[in-house]
Amino acid sequence: MASDVVTMEKIVSLCKRRGFVFPSSEIYGGIGSSYDYGHYGVLLKNNVKAQWWRSLLQERDDVVALDSAIIQHPRTWEASGHLAGFTDPLVDCRTCKHRFRADKLEDGQCGEKPSKRPGEGPNCDLTEARNFNLMFQTTVGPVQDEGSVVYLRPETAQGIFLNFKHYLQFARKKPPFGIAQIGKSFRNEITPGNFVFRMREFEQMEMEFFVPPDQAGTWYEFWKQARFDWYVKLGIRADHLRLRPHDADELSHYSTGTSDVEYLYPIGWQELEGIANRGNYDLTQHAEYSRQNLEYVDTASGERYLPHVIEPAAGADRAALAFLCDAYDEDQIEGETRTVLRLHPLLAPVKAAVLPLVKKDGQPELAHAIVAELRDRLQVEYDEGGAIGRRYRRQDEIGTPWSITIDHQSLEDHTVTVRDRDTLTQERVPVDALAGELERRLREPWSPPGD
Ligand code: ATP
Repeated sequence: MASDVVTMEKIVSLCKRRGFVFPSSEIYGGIGSSYDYGHYGVLLKNNVKAQWWRSLLQERDDVVALDSAIIQHPRTWEASGHLAGFTDPLVDCRTCKHRFRADKLEDGQCGEKPSKRPGEGPNCDLTEARNFNLMFQTTVGPVQDEGSVVYLRPETAQGIFLNFKHYLQFARKKPPFGIAQIGKSFRNEITPGNFVFRMREFEQMEMEFFVPPDQAGTWYEFWKQARFDWYVKLGIRADHLRLRPHDADELSHYSTGTSDVEYLYPIGWQELEGIANRGNYDLTQHAEYSRQNLEYVDTASGERYLPHVIEPAAGADRAALAFLCDAYDEDQIEGETRTVLRLHPLLAPVKAAVLPLVKKDGQPELAHAIVAELRDRLQVEYDEGGAIGRRYRRQDEIGTPWSITIDHQSLEDHTVTVRDRDTLTQERVPVDALAGELERRLREPWSPPGD
């Protein structure tokens, strides 16, 4: 089982070695909290986002899409409460000069050797906790004065509330309906860390689902289950996931219920996504601060109300990391240890690798012709370099579910072998049937081997 062998170090090392994720600005020594996605990382995260969009836009007809600006009117953050309250408690250590989140001291490491939890070392000297606002501030325009201060959004959700009226008017939507968006968010986290789990710049996948007030409880239950199931359908083992309701003291003052989907990362159970029943707090606030009426009016019955909101808020980076961790496995093949990413085929960066056995006898030409045909439908990769066993291992490490091998028989009878990453079976398939066969396999339900 992957959980037995995976560690964060192994994931970080694989991600760097195979070009999924690099520490940002490395040639200048790096900048702690930032990471850059390389080729396979971009493909993986794109697939995660595409599946999220698919589950909301394609598989339903009550959710619509939005892509709002990162820099919004500064009043947004007054109305939302972020300016006053989007803070984490910060403590300084007078000895080692490090800073820690007071509510996450157990995740911190004191700067002295041997390193202990902050506060536990003999010389630790922590200050009282003070609140630190996590929003990044900048200025717009050539004059830097008070009026030009703006913020990089700390969540994508508020952009949805600002546009709510447009959707009532132009999209002619009526509750229950959702508005979904994916985009970058920025938080000046006190202690970023654990690779892409906690960064200062990250991507969120959020939806605000607007409902008649008396349906809020039902839809809250619905979205909790639907979001949990999404991860399982995409291959995460159900016993590595749990829904954890917030305790009363964790709840935001406006929330009547919040549950986190938590994943058993190598660092322990951590939040992957939050699902909140936000009541009509946000629309009420924006209606007041903007002096606009944001009520929904039912033209037939004349009924009017401020919809309540259920918000599933996920992180694309945390999701990609969870899929990577759950997929990571090592097994033995012919006496050698193989590292393999057992990713759901829909998430795998490359669906099929096309590999001529030798670089002669017409095999590369046939392989190129197959690539040309397949790339119309799937992400494929051509590789002719090195022994075939090594080429299989390279594809296993990036999670490619199928390797297509062209051998001398291929030139005679126009068939190729399809090697399955998980079962290691090799099946001969006519070249003419190959694209259809791969698409059929891609559509099949998939679960991790042995689950
Ligand atoms: P945490 O308690 O871990 O700081 P949060 O409760 O503040 O997270 P939300 O505000 O609910 O997070 O944001 C929704 C989602 O956005 C989170 O579940 C997570 O997947 C993602 N997210 C939040 N902060 C970060 C971050 N600093 N880096 C990467 N992803 C993040």
